[in-house]
Amino acid sequence: MDRQLLSKILVQMRNHLKEGKEIGDMKVGALLALGHQLEAIFYYLGHELGTHLNVKPIGDVTTIPNAIKEKIAEFNIGDVEITESSEEIVQLRLKGHSSIKDLINKGIKTEGSFCSFEAGLLAGIVEKMTNIHCFAQEVECSLQSGKSYCEFMIVFQQD
Ligand SMILES: [Zn+2]
Repeated sequence: MDRQLLSKILVQMRNHLKEGKEIGDMKVGALLALGHQLEAIFYYLGHELGTHLNVKPIGDVTTIPNAIKEKIAEFNIGDVEITESSEEIVQLRLKGHSSIKDLINKGIKTEGSFCSFEAGLLAGIVEKMTNIHCFAQEVECSLQSGKSYCEFMIVFQQD
């Protein structure tokens, strides 16, 4: 799933709807950006769960990294390390999360992103915290890279 592309298409669709224009071809584009159905469904599930974890809004964006760490620890989602945080993105590494827990170190290799459930979960949590629409993408999966962690990027939606 290409969240960045999907996000751009959704913004265009919104603008076209507002201007009374057709969105037919954009629906096809959005479908392609969505990619594999299962990946999209897992993202959706994770996102729904993220919005159900009793996340409290935070006043100051500089506290996002700590607030993310606390939520991930509270719900035993995995071990997290925040590698970058700005007003546009949060980048982090996650270990021991449910999507790969039973698969890692068993010689299984995937092509591309595998942990879309956690990507959706992170987006849902951060969205609740900040009240800003977010999307998240797994940048590098441990099942692909052979590293001990998966890397995620959460992007704050800018119009
Ligand atoms: Zn992964």
